[in-house]
Amino acid sequence: KKIRVGVVFGGRSGEHEVSLASAKAVMENLDPEKYAVVPIGITKAGQWLLGTEPATLLAAEQPNGGIADTFRSVTFTGDPTVKHLIPLEGGSALGEQGALDVIIPVLHGTYGEDGTLQGLLEMANVPYVGCGVLGAAVGMDKEKMKMIFDSAGLPNVNYLVYRRNQWARSPEAILDAIETQLGYPNFVKPVNLGSSVGINKAHNRTELEHAINVAAEYDRKIIIEQGINCREFECAVLGNDEPIVSVVGEIIASNEFYDYNAKYIDNQSQAVIPANIPQQTTEEIRRYAIAAFQALDLSGLSRIDFFLDKDSGKIYINEVNTLPGFTEISMYPKLWAASGIPYSELLERLIELAQERYEDRQ
Ligand code: ADP
Ligand code: MG
Ligand code: MG
Repeated sequence: KKIRVGVVFGGRSGEHEVSLASAKAVMENLDPEKYAVVPIGITKAGQWLLGTEPATLLAAEQPNGGIADTFRSVTFTGDPTVKHLIPLEGGSALGEQGALDVIIPVLHGTYGEDGTLQGLLEMANVPYVGCGVLGAAVGMDKEKMKMIFDSAGLPNVNYLVYRRNQWARSPEAILDAIETQLGYPNFVKPVNLGSSVGINKAHNRTELEHAINVAAEYDRKIIIEQGINCREFECAVLGNDEPIVSVVGEIIASNEFYDYNAKYIDNQSQAVIPANIPQQTTEEIRRYAIAAFQALDLSGLSRIDFFLDKDSGKIYINEVNTLPGFTEISMYPKLWAASGIPYSELLERLIELAQERYEDRQ
């Protein structure tokens, strides 16, 4: 009997479109001999649509936030009393199609990568790929992530965090504090986001003030980091309690930094896999990657990103991404392909890890 895999994608996030591309690749690479794929699209308005391919999800979305067709609901395995928690249209599809054995959340950013969907799936008592509630939530919160890096002894850039209301109350004092403690250039980011959305590099006080205002539009917490003159490296981690780590890759960004445009629009950024760095540096990065994965209590998968300071030669951990981009040309699958695990085998392993983690928690 085939394993029924629900692939959840889209969602109420700034990274909605990125998710559609990832989900398309995931569905195309699940071995049809082994898996029956059930696409579950979430519109930007937050409506769940069963059986919608990523390409048609956008088309189905109506300007009024409604949807074009009538869709049936999704029912998870597990406790039937909680299935109605899942906000869906129409009646139950359980009898007709059978319940889902495992879910692959292919969502990036808020309501998907941040622990919210993971909480819902825990309550629905269904195995799912990737991190649990805690790992996903701290992996999305750049402040808490860095606090844990600090306490685990992982090398972190200097940073400051302010709440939106603090910024509104005393902007001059905050600008002064950033200038004395971090200097220029620095990077200003919404604490909970990804894909470089809302991130700006500030070279002076005017740019800094503007950058904080931009970040404050996206989040009530704003993080400001010391800017590093850096090369950027990424590596992929796979596993639960005994994770393995891929080769290290380098990103050569097409812009002054790896912004949204350099990531998704201009197609000029390059990946060098494996990175051209000394063996010792590679081993240091791989060691930190495993340490970060364990410190944040991650599971399944994560892409862990690093800076190499060109001036001092020092390695810094930048961040983890618990649901990294998953198209065939995305770094996470490419790093594994270069490490001997092709895309469809990677999906198989992730599904096994989801089932293993589910059993472990019973
Ligand atoms: P996201 O989660 O949106 O990818 P990141 O923290 O990874 O956010 O920042 C996006 C990009 O901005 C990085 O890949 C890097 O190019 C640049 N960047 C971010 N922080 C720094 C920093 N402290 N020093 C130098 N470059 C940075
Ligand atoms: Mg990120
Ligand atoms: Mg990043």
